Amino acid sequence: MIHHPPEPDSSPADLVVVGGGAAGIFGAIAAAEASPGAKVLLLEKSAVLLAKVRVSGGGRCNVTHHCFDPKELVRHYPRGGQELLGPFHRFQPCDTINWFEERGVKLKVEPDGRMFPTTDNSETIIQCLLSEAKRLGVEIRLRQRIETIERSREGFTIAIQGAAPLRTRKLLLATGSAEAGYRFAQHLGHSLQPPVPSLFTFNVPTSPWKEQSGVALESVEIGIRGSSLSYRGPLLLTHFGFSGPAILKLSAWGARLLHEKSYVAEIAINWLPQLSQEAILEKLLECKSLYPVASLASENPFYFPRNFWREMLMLTDEKLLGKLGHLAHKELRHLAEKLHSDLYCIEGKTTHKEEFVTCGGVALREVDFKRMESKICPGLFFAGELLDIDGITGGFNFQSAWTTSQIAGSSSLAG
Ligand SMILES: Cc1cc2nc3c(=O)[nH]c(=O)nc-3n(C[C@H](O)[C@H](O)[C@H](O)COP(=O)(O)OP(=O)(O)OC[C@H]3O[C@@H](n4cnc5c(N)ncnc54)[C@H](O)[C@@H]3O)c2cc1C
Repeated sequence: MIHHPPEPDSSPADLVVVGGGAAGIFGAIAAAEASPGAKVLLLEKSAVLLAKVRVSGGGRCNVTHHCFDPKELVRHYPRGGQELLGPFHRFQPCDTINWFEERGVKLKVEPDGRMFPTTDNSETIIQCLLSEAKRLGVEIRLRQRIETIERSREGFTIAIQGAAPLRTRKLLLATGSAEAGYRFAQHLGHSLQPPVPSLFTFNVPTSPWKEQSGVALESVEIGIRGSSLSYRGPLLLTHFGFSGPAILKLSAWGARLLHEKSYVAEIAINWLPQLSQEAILEKLLECKSLYPVASLASENPFYFPRNFWREMLMLTDEKLLGKLGHLAHKELRHLAEKLHSDLYCIEGKTTHKEEFVTCGGVALREVDFKRMESKICPGLFFAGELLDIDGITGGFNFQSAWTTSQIAGSSSLAG
């Protein structure tokens, strides 16, 4: 039997969106809303939509961050901050909050600025997005295996395994960090910044703190030695090394550097970043003169978690566990030095299960951020993690997905 290649769909779509994640769905909704009656088709390779939204924020979905000043907001993006400044003037966290609220989903803010649906359930966000896509007539096709995407005279032709090729006037690529999406972008003329992981925790096999796993320090400063990278924030001691916001921030800003070093590097922890080394020593000497018969362990002048502090003294010098009056100046100086700059060796990373992203992707200089359109291939739009944009943890990654897809979707069918 002769096999004829399937005939293309007779009428081309106005817009095909590739990828059914946060950026793809939000972009399709924005396009359908901006151009009522347009044929907007979304193709998703898997059997489910919005899979990452479902698991995000530990199942609660950290939708955005309570930060409404675009200049301040862009500081949370190790890559793409500068390019996002203009887009954030058009669609930023307060627009995200309003967007969901107008559709019946209220968001709440936590003390650290992260915003979640009041239901604390990512399903609320998913249902809202899916019912909006349905209301606006977005056609969704699941389990679509796209083989190639070719530029054609009137737009793009998409070859799909086992189905007729699709034609579309405009194309929005929102494939996240999937390899195929990068391939399509490259085939259409784009260059890539090599993708590498961001937002991970540090393995420190020689960490003396394993027994203290679960202890959190409110504010430490951690720097990668030999670089200018250094961040302040809460630190969590774990059974494999270090985690917590300060580490995640450092992993994001140092994603490329650490990748180049194969995740082997020396870090310095300043356990008391609000004090200089001299001020720490002064405090220790003051403690000695005020309480000579007490011990440093019981005085705990810096209000560290008790067991941590005791361990810190023991690791520095067992003599520090004795009476304060018996401690020599040099022992206290040694402690001050360690509290100010404590060195550890990272040997590997662990995926942070709550949130991780890919650093790298479609090169930003090739994209017009006023429309999120390719400067190389007119009619091609980009949104979400596929771009060389990534934020630190806290809702910034979804915000860049909402912003870029809102602009891509609404401008793709305009003009
Ligand atoms: C565990 C976890 C928790 C997270 N939690 C948060 C959080 O709370 N807050 C936050 O701001 N960020 C969070 N993030 C990051 C956030 O999920 C991403 O930044 C965001 O999902 C990116 O959206 P996207 O649509 O660009 O990509 P994705 O969500 O990855 O969606 C891409 C979609 O494209 C589809 N696709 C890929 N290739 C093809 C193809 N060839 N054809 C058709 N479809 C294709 C994929 O199947 C997928 O559905 C989390 C990430 C993870 C992994």
